[in-house]
Amino acid sequence: MTRKTVVIGMDGVPLRLIEELTDSGDMPNCAHLRKEGYLSSMHSAVPEVSNVNWSSIVTGANPGEHGIYGFTELIPGTHTVCFPDRRALKAPPFWSDNSKRYVLLNIPAMYPAPEVNGVFVSGFVAPDLDKAVKPMDELEYLRSIDYEVDVDSSIAHKSHRLFLERLFETLEKREKAYRYYWTRKWDVFMLVFTGSDRLEHFLMDAYADEEHEYHEEFIRYFREIDRIVGDIYGSMDEGSRLVMLSDHGMEPIKINVNVNALLEQNGLLELGGHPEKRYNNIVDEGTSAFALDPGRIYLRDKDVAREVVKLFEGLKYEGEDVIGRINLRDDVYHGPEIERAPDIVLTPNSGYNIKGGVKYEDVFEKNIFKGKHTASDAFLYCNEKCIPRSPTVEDVRDIIEK
Ligand SMILES: [Zn+2]
Repeated sequence: MTRKTVVIGMDGVPLRLIEELTDSGDMPNCAHLRKEGYLSSMHSAVPEVSNVNWSSIVTGANPGEHGIYGFTELIPGTHTVCFPDRRALKAPPFWSDNSKRYVLLNIPAMYPAPEVNGVFVSGFVAPDLDKAVKPMDELEYLRSIDYEVDVDSSIAHKSHRLFLERLFETLEKREKAYRYYWTRKWDVFMLVFTGSDRLEHFLMDAYADEEHEYHEEFIRYFREIDRIVGDIYGSMDEGSRLVMLSDHGMEPIKINVNVNALLEQNGLLELGGHPEKRYNNIVDEGTSAFALDPGRIYLRDKDVAREVVKLFEGLKYEGEDVIGRINLRDDVYHGPEIERAPDIVLTPNSGYNIKGGVKYEDVFEKNIFKGKHTASDAFLYCNEKCIPRSPTVEDVRDIIEK
């Protein structure tokens, strides 16, 4: 008989937050697990975007192998932006091993749902629940509990209170679904919480600030997660493996940095049309470099590589270096999909939120968001000694399959 494995994902939760909330007593179940098992920091993919990370987590592959570099992508041979989904994934995920049975709930970046030996429910981005569920028979139940793949984050732009209400509702439905599917026959059960990422993006400032209007609610969300984790752990068979992880960390934003604004100011990028309209076909003739979110730079003219690197090496904000690491394609990617990779990927220093959009006023800007992804402090936990030294998201698949 195969040994059972449970995987609990928490999108965007930094190791530091887990450490602090287990120390403070807000996450008592995780504190207990921490004492019994092994907790490590984990490096994210380049760039540290959720769908790139989750693609590496489930395939064990480098972006150069699985072909996912961000939520946006260029249609080959054009400068037109498209949105890759699960069908663009070029490396096989762990559930392609049909000898095991699976319950896989809310798996990010895996839409439409693939056929699996068991049940699959896609996580974000999943616009249509009908296509997010396999087999289709499961739809009836999920519809009956009004299951939601993701909280509607647009609400946060209008009201944080309403956003929080909806966030807890979404979590409640996620918990219902987990309980319903827990009693099925499975060898690998995976459940991902994505509300953590949403909460931190909009309210990261509420975490450290005890006076913040929503400080208590922020902590309460993690207490709820902890309660569900305790529940899951408490009902696992003896000898099962428990893996918990996040895909990237999160930290407060000091300032947003518009990569394309800097390229434009330096004559490397020419954008046609009005800012509101210039999304899809983002470059004009005369452009030699442009960026897609977050800091993926594509060179139309390879001769400007050195100039671009120098430009970002020298970028300062209030006397501070903005960019921590400038990743060149061949240094961070390998595999058959490398041809489509960005030429340069920027990893910022702490607090700088790198953006590759084309709607901006200036290089440095503030906006509604309070939290941004970090690359080196995701967490990885296992109740057994199986975590390699300095793990990366590419190491997770092995641990799930062992
Ligand atoms: Zn994420």
